[in-house]
Amino acid sequence: MMPSVYIKTYGCQMNERDSEAVAAQLVAKGYTLASSEAVADVILLNTCSVRDAAEQKAIGKMQTLAAEMRRTRPEVVLGFLGCMAQSRGQQLIDKLPDVDLVVGTQKFHRTADYLDDIFAGKRTKVVDVGEEQGSEAAIREHILNGNTAESPVTAFVSIMQGCNQYCTFCIVPYTRGGERSRTIPDIVAECRELAARGVREITLLGQIVTSYGKRDIPVRDGKSGFVQLLEAVHEIEGVERIRFTSPHPKGYGDDLVEAYARLPKLVESAHLPVQSGSDRLLKLMHRGYTRERFLGIIEKLRRVRPEMGITTDIIVVLPGETELDFEETLSLAREVEFDNAYIFKYSPRKDTPAAAMPGQVAQAAKEERNARLLALINEIGARHYEKCVGRQEQILVEGPSKKNPARMMGRTRNNKIVVFEGSGRHRGQIMDVKIKRAGSFTLYGDPAILNVD
Ligand code: SF4
Repeated sequence: MMPSVYIKTYGCQMNERDSEAVAAQLVAKGYTLASSEAVADVILLNTCSVRDAAEQKAIGKMQTLAAEMRRTRPEVVLGFLGCMAQSRGQQLIDKLPDVDLVVGTQKFHRTADYLDDIFAGKRTKVVDVGEEQGSEAAIREHILNGNTAESPVTAFVSIMQGCNQYCTFCIVPYTRGGERSRTIPDIVAECRELAARGVREITLLGQIVTSYGKRDIPVRDGKSGFVQLLEAVHEIEGVERIRFTSPHPKGYGDDLVEAYARLPKLVESAHLPVQSGSDRLLKLMHRGYTRERFLGIIEKLRRVRPEMGITTDIIVVLPGETELDFEETLSLAREVEFDNAYIFKYSPRKDTPAAAMPGQVAQAAKEERNARLLALINEIGARHYEKCVGRQEQILVEGPSKKNPARMMGRTRNNKIVVFEGSGRHRGQIMDVKIKRAGSFTLYGDPAILNVD
């Protein structure tokens, strides 16, 4: 019997997607997927390097696993994949000699071959963190259950890898490499196949999706490669909604704003990572836009789609951030009225310029700013959600609610979760619900009075 594999994923949606594709590639080769680490023949940790805590968590997990397996099942193969595997390579095996496999971010698709080699006794340890041309096109397979009760309604499609922006706080350009984009026909073929298998919403995925195709696809009629891709995906029958993440504010040219006015499947939802409201800090971060430019984009987006849901990422606290800088971030949050914001506590990353910047802020001040920002974001978010009460909203029903599986959940076009009393037959449907009440970043709808007013 072929060995079984368990993959544990840390970090972002890109990692989730990479793990899913690796799992699908392994299944295609005959491996089975284990339901837990306890019964798996291979345990892989797909790692994240964005914060030191994420790295320490994966290393700690591997130490525990190695000790446990040495005692109970020494034949189990242990491996690291992804960003930390890329940045630390051989060091991981030097530190944890029970680890058999280290696979970097351009080599995910080689995982099955390396496992074959290990099981065949051809090699005992494999470390591969090299660059590989064309690897961006290798994250393509999906695990989709053919069974209609379980087939997913939404899917992520990786359109590019890497980032050339080199924000001073970010390790991604070092772990994921430079920007590499797949071709439009390749992406469209994958989306078509997903639509044929019942997927109704596609999220185009990449570290900086708005830079998609920048070097390879010529601007046509004033439209960037990314907008040309949106148009091509928009044509696909069966795809009802299109989202993308993460964009960069500097990528919101007029062609993209105009695409929102023109492409109805492009839902009115934008995740625009601002990181700070202070021009001084935006410059230190090497973000490539000013506060004014950011506000200008929001204004244009709201002009073409007044219901646009806008979320963001904000970093607290970059070295050198003063109380004045922080207050600019608070005032920006008030001005934009974000639907939600993800606050990231700054974590110095090896070899990034910000790690060597002067003016590291004391822990107490960091915690205090974090709490103030969070309170403001929650207050603004609650107002947004409260405003939805009484409205009729269109949702795409994704499946049972995670918190209460007896209920169903869907998402509005502007990306708000709606929980309602429904049943399995609603799954995959686009329907209107009346919003009855708002909870914390969740709406509660009532399908009983569908379309009656
Ligand atoms: S745009 Fe900046 S924050 Fe985003 S992945 Fe690239 S370097 Fe990191």
